[in-house]
Amino acid sequence: MNGLNINQKRLLQSIKESSAIGATPNGGLHRLALTIDDQQMRNLLINWFEEEGLSIRVDDFGNMYGRREGKHPHQMPVVIGSHLDTQPCGGRFDGVLGVLAALEVVRSLNEANVQTDRPIEIINFTNEEGARFEPPMLGSGGVCGVFEKDFIYSRQDKDGIKFRDALSDIGYKGLEENRLQKAEYFIELHIEQGPILEEEQLEIGVVEGIQGISWISVTVEGEMNHAGPTPMENRKDAVVAAAKMIESIDKLAQEYEGLKTTVGQLNVYPNVPNVISGKVEFIVDIRHEDDEQRERALEVMKQQLSTISGLCDVELTFHTSWENDSVTFSEKVIETISKCAGNRNLSTKRMFSGPGHDAKYMAEIAKTGMIFVPSHRGISHNEEEFTRDNDLVNGANLLLDVVCQLSGAKIPKTI
Ligand SMILES: [Zn+2]
Repeated sequence: MNGLNINQKRLLQSIKESSAIGATPNGGLHRLALTIDDQQMRNLLINWFEEEGLSIRVDDFGNMYGRREGKHPHQMPVVIGSHLDTQPCGGRFDGVLGVLAALEVVRSLNEANVQTDRPIEIINFTNEEGARFEPPMLGSGGVCGVFEKDFIYSRQDKDGIKFRDALSDIGYKGLEENRLQKAEYFIELHIEQGPILEEEQLEIGVVEGIQGISWISVTVEGEMNHAGPTPMENRKDAVVAAAKMIESIDKLAQEYEGLKTTVGQLNVYPNVPNVISGKVEFIVDIRHEDDEQRERALEVMKQQLSTISGLCDVELTFHTSWENDSVTFSEKVIETISKCAGNRNLSTKRMFSGPGHDAKYMAEIAKTGMIFVPSHRGISHNEEEFTRDNDLVNGANLLLDVVCQLSGAKIPKTI
């Protein structure tokens, strides 16, 4: 600990102001990317950047940057931040905490007149959630070269509005030359979105990386027929086959420690009560922190599904619709977070993130790490998402210490 602390009241007040933009009746947020609400939140962030004397940039994906100069402007910056967009009826903290805590870190450094060797840049990434424009993490993916500009610009929302037009409409289509070019470090503070820290009564998650993920699209084809006259033994019922498959997918997770399997979407054709279904489509979401384990589990799953399709006399096809390998964060950043948490006597646990985050792509261009704070009952992407004030403040103070450490901060002796 270096004697410097963030201003708890000011941090909570900023989160409160964010919570009013796109507020839902039940205390959540509905602030989809590049909407009027997103614009209003962005305008507020610009005001806050200006108040701190930061130099402000907006890039061609709408990512926003507030830069605090270092003693050595040519050195690569320490970048901190996350996203301000939310899911439909999402929570007040997912993403928001990472941006507003980053702002609070800079406010605290300014207030205490702390000079750093490296510049510090706050970043607000566009469309992290993927709720309006799929896929998620378009802003960070654009900056890190994961997605082409044309691909990002041509994404459409459900009303057919293109990303590029939505960006222009809210006045946040900036310049390509404003993109983050280089960064030495990227640190993202985020709520856990899982129940582990709360259950184990721990204060901080030191995130080691992000689980790999595969989406396998499965199509089961049987024979559509009338529910009344068709004898039970002659049926090729795609729903019955799919149900057995989904059960085996659920059980598969018991065989591999740390494996998570989910079927969250099911399309039944023709989806009529008195017709034996001829076709079912579903997507398997399968995650593990070890890519080899995930791949092994996938092979076993495919074999099991093939066996079931044979027994049920239905046709089966798979294809991989999305795949991302796991990401391991920088050992140096992980160590720094652990050490700084220890200095503040915060209890910690090393863990992998289940959800994806902007840090996943940033890890491709910078030494990256994440700090998690507890989420009440692990609820997220939901209006009931909640993190206690104390945990928000712990996370922000830890972020401050990590930034000081990595940016070469000179803390005045009077503090
Ligand atoms: Zn998030």
